[in-house]
Amino acid sequence: MKRSDRITAVVILIAAVLVMVSWIVIHRTPGVRAVIRVDGKVVATVDLRLLEPQTLHVQGMLGPMVILADGKGSIRVEESTCPDQVCVHTVAAHSPGDQIICVPNHMVILVEGRGAGIDALTH
Ligand SMILES: [Zn+2]
Repeated sequence: MKRSDRITAVVILIAAVLVMVSWIVIHRTPGVRAVIRVDGKVVATVDLRLLEPQTLHVQGMLGPMVILADGKGSIRVEESTCPDQVCVHTVAAHSPGDQIICVPNHMVILVEGRGAGIDALTH
């Protein structure tokens, strides 16, 4: 391999990385809805496009949980009965594919988008 070929390869690699990064940025669009599951069953679906804050009371395996959609497209766990409180401290979910998981409560919040790709993944 000539030196110029190596430079070309590096340039192509950098270009590929840039394309990937911009693809990720473009696709980090707001989610359409959040699906809340407890023990694998869907217990609530929240429309994240609504501009009004919504508070949901979900019964986890250990006890009640309070889940808050802030009316700006994000959803997070406000209160939970779990001992570790990991879910409460998890950053708000916003983009398709974002998840908040509470292991002790067997609870998963998954943000879904418009695209069929993510729907296909979850089904
Ligand atoms: Zn938790």
